Amino acid sequence: LSSLERKLSRNKTNKKKKDLNKEISTKVGLFDKLPEKCLTCGQPYDKLDKDMVKSWYVIVKEQEKSVHLYCPECWKLAINILEEFEQHLEHKNTYNDCENE
Ligand SMILES: [Zn+2]
Repeated sequence: LSSLERKLSRNKTNKKKKDLNKEISTKVGLFDKLPEKCLTCGQPYDKLDKDMVKSWYVIVKEQEKSVHLYCPECWKLAINILEEFEQHLEHKNTYNDCENE
C-alpha cells in the first residue's frame, strides 16, 4: 500500500508541476503583449524604467488574451470609480431589502 501511495503522490506532484509550467508560459506569452502606453490617457510606458515598472499597474486578462496597462493616476481614478460603483450597489441592495419587507 505504501508504495502505491508514493506512486500516486508522485503522479500528483508531476501533474502540478506541468500545470504550473503551462500557466507561466501562458502568462509570459501575454506579457509580450504589454502595451506601450496607458490604456486610459495614452501616457507612454517605458518597461526599462524601474520606477515606472513599480508604480504602473498591469492587468492580465487571461480569458481575453490581452494585457491592460494603467498609469498610477488613471489607476487611482479607476479605483475611485470602482468604489463608487460598489457603494452604489450596496445602496441598491439596501433599498431592495426595504422594499421586500
Ligand atoms: Zn493614464
